[in-house]
Parts: sequence; structure tokens; C-alpha cells
Amino acid sequence: MKSFIEVKPDSHFPIQNLPYGVFKLKVGNDPVCGVAIGEYVLDLSMLEEKGFFSNTNLGKEIIFETPSLNKFMQKGRETWKQVRTLLQMALSDENPILRDDEDLKKISLIPMKDVEMCMPVDIGNYTDFYSSREHATNVGIMFRGKENALMPNWLHIPIAYHGRASSIVVSGTEITRPKGQTKPANAETPIFGPTKLLDFELETGFFVGQGNLLGEPIAVEDTYNHIFGMVLVNDWSARDIQTWEYQPLGPFLAKNFATSISPWVVTMEALEPFRVSGPKQEPEPLPYLRSKGNWAYDINLEVGIRTLKQKEMFTISRSNYKYLYWNICQQLAHHTVNGCNTITGDMMASGTISGPDKDSYGSMLELTWRGENPLKLPSGEERKFLEDGDTLEISGYCQGEGYRIGFGNVSGKILPAK
Ligand code: MN
Repeated sequence: MKSFIEVKPDSHFPIQNLPYGVFKLKVGNDPVCGVAIGEYVLDLSMLEEKGFFSNTNLGKEIIFETPSLNKFMQKGRETWKQVRTLLQMALSDENPILRDDEDLKKISLIPMKDVEMCMPVDIGNYTDFYSSREHATNVGIMFRGKENALMPNWLHIPIAYHGRASSIVVSGTEITRPKGQTKPANAETPIFGPTKLLDFELETGFFVGQGNLLGEPIAVEDTYNHIFGMVLVNDWSARDIQTWEYQPLGPFLAKNFATSISPWVVTMEALEPFRVSGPKQEPEPLPYLRSKGNWAYDINLEVGIRTLKQKEMFTISRSNYKYLYWNICQQLAHHTVNGCNTITGDMMASGTISGPDKDSYGSMLELTWRGENPLKLPSGEERKFLEDGDTLEISGYCQGEGYRIGFGNVSGKILPAK
């Protein structure tokens, strides 16, 4: 499959991908939906206006001339597949419908440099899982010692907490260093001030397409049809605030000041060729969590840092989504097993994705082992945690034969506390 639009082999956005996003022109217009193709954004609202989707389940409904993907996500897998097939056909080098229509190309294909990406989804609810065994073990060793590293429930339950949807921001949004209560190890009483231990968490997240009614769990074998696509997630974390507040009820202000996501939602259809088997689950999970088949995904993940002195992005971690212990089907089945309802646009993040090796850890906490082994940057600087002026970037892609299914990246620059 090849597009009439030139796409380089290392591009994240070939015709096999076609991720969905919401964009506006830098010169100004209302945000609308589009797909990424090479260095271009295909404006779906323009195609919609021309009646391009009228033979699909979408009919003449206005779906893409809106500032979020929610309307489309609500339609379900059958329609997602129809639209994807139609778009691949229209962008193919063998089909004249768009290739030879200079006027339509002019108004619907926009260079990426001319657009600003917006939040792709109107996110109603946000849940953050804790599904990497390596990450949970590392954190457990640091905070409780080697003997009690993994909590007794961890191998039985996909552990998660309810996060905050209102502070999820799109890539490029600057992050202000949060203030809060901390208690230094040797102090009797807590103090208030800017966090000293600002961290990132390398994660991905999936979006619920069609939700479920209150009281009606999604069976593990039905979960896949409820999942629309995935993005990269940076779950910014203030470790000193977290240490003081997290017991007995879990994460709160250490997490809810900001969470960043990448702007392009990669569909499960595009990711399909990269499904691989996940880690062996021992002990066997309870029957409601038994997913059949391969539900891990081979997604290469990379974390880079730029500082005021270190101008070139410097890679500090390489991990892979396939290391996750609990898969998306198990996460969604578990989330709803008690009857909890989900709605279109809910985001479920994976939890920090740490690999088995020291250079595959998904947080500064682990990479520097709580600051004991600072990272050395080519600029001569050292980092234990993130400092003001630092930019943290996560990127990810699946490597196919001669093409990549990419996520682009999610980045954020740290501003001083207010
Ligand atoms: Mn997290």
C-alpha cells in the first residue's frame, strides 16, 4: 500500500497508520478533525462537506467538523473500519479521486507546519493503571525493600487509581512546577513549597470508543470492540509530595497538576500487525481476567531530555510497550467488572512502562534510583530529577517492513513555580 503523497520510510505517518487528531490552522480557524499522512494533515471536515462519507454509516451527519473525535469514536468498530478503508483508498496512489483533484487537494491537504494540534478527545474520565511489573518492583524495592517489593495483590489485580481528566493537556503545553506539602526525611513537621523531585512517567493510554451501561460489565472477550485507539502519555509526578500524601488513599496532588498526551490517536486497526504475546502470567488470573490470544503490542518507546544548556535532545531511556504485564483487555474488563460504567472518550493509561534493563526504566525515580545515580548529560550537567527549563519528550513507533506506525511525540517544558 502506497500513497500519492510522498512519505519517508522513517515517517511516523504512512498510509498504513492514518491516526486521528484535532487541529486548527495557525492563521486561525475553529478546531476540526483530521488524519496525519506524511508531512500533511488531511482535513476530514472538508471531505465531509463534499459528502465524501455519505455512503458509510456516518451518512450526512456532521462528525468531523467538531473540536473532538468523540462523535466518531462513539460510532463503533464497524464504522471506524469503513472510514479507515475509505481514507486509505482515497490516499492511495492508484486512486484518482483525491490524487487528480487539484482543487480538493488544495483545501483538504494542509502542511503540518501550518497547523497547531489540539486536544484530540473530550476526556470524561481518566484512570491510571500500574501494569508494569518491572516498575512496580523497582518502586517497591525503593520504598519497602527487596522482600516486600511487589504487594501481595499485584499479580492478581490490574492495580489502578482514578486520575483527574481536567488537567490532561496536549503535547507542547508548558508545565508549571507544582507547589505542595512535603515532609523532608529528617524533619518533624511538613513544609510547603515547590516540589524538589519533579518527575515524568513514560506511559501510553487507550481511549474508550463505545462505553458500557452502569451495572453492565464488559466481558474480557468483548473489551477490544470498546477500544478506539492509543496515545503516548506523560504522567508528570511530584515524588516528594507523593511520598508524604499517598498513604492511606493513594495518589492525589502529586499527580493531578498535569498529564500530557500526544495529539494523534493511533487506531487499534493500525496497531493490529504489531500484536505480540505479553509476559507469562503466573499465577493464572481469575476467570474474568483470562484474555485469549496475544494482547501486548510491540511499540518502541523512547524518552529524551533537552535542557537550557543541552540543546540537542538526549535519549535517557528506551523501553517497549510489550513489557507490560496486564493488557488492555484485562484492564478494561477489570475496570468494569463491578458494574462501573465507562463513556466515550474515557482515557485509561498504562502505568509507567519500565523494561528489564536500567536504561529502559520509565521514570527519573528509577533511572537515577531516587537520585543516588544522577544522569550525566553531554552538556556536562547532571540530573536527579527535572529542573526548570528542561523539556521532556516521549516518542514511540512500531517498526513494520519498510514503514513505521508512529505516535509522533508528547513533549512538555518545565516552567518555574508561580
Ligand atoms: Mn502513572
